[in-house]
Amino acid sequence: MADGSLAPAWDGVWDADGEGAFMIGGRCGACGGLALGLRPICPHCHKDGTLAAEAVGRRGRLYSATVIHQAPPGFEAPYRVGYVDIGEGLRVFAHIQAEAENGVPAPGPGDEVVLRIVAVKTDPDGTARSGPFYAAVEGTAK
Ligand SMILES: [Zn+2]
Repeated sequence: MADGSLAPAWDGVWDADGEGAFMIGGRCGACGGLALGLRPICPHCHKDGTLAAEAVGRRGRLYSATVIHQAPPGFEAPYRVGYVDIGEGLRVFAHIQAEAENGVPAPGPGDEVVLRIVAVKTDPDGTARSGPFYAAVEGTAK
């Protein structure tokens, strides 16, 4: 994660490096296929143990989004979620920027977005948990 101070809401889904946040993809050494996340078996060729981690999803295009008004425990409504196309046929479900930030309007369908890892939920004991959040890229909103 970006600052290392937040526990992830889910393990092994995202990380960060000097270039920023990324989703963890799995590239198959046998067929070259790419999947979201590391899995024991390649979902393309079904070979065992052929996936190697690859950074994906630093940027993408918002496919669709909606606002959640009735939140499950640990989430604070309202918040926006949606699907982001991150290339190579991969589509990520994530939190999406809901309002203008620093003069950059919230992204709409087709707009370019950039991944950040931010606090998205709170455990019953008060521990904040991080998750993927896609925000508009300045100058690309329609
Ligand atoms: Zn494969």
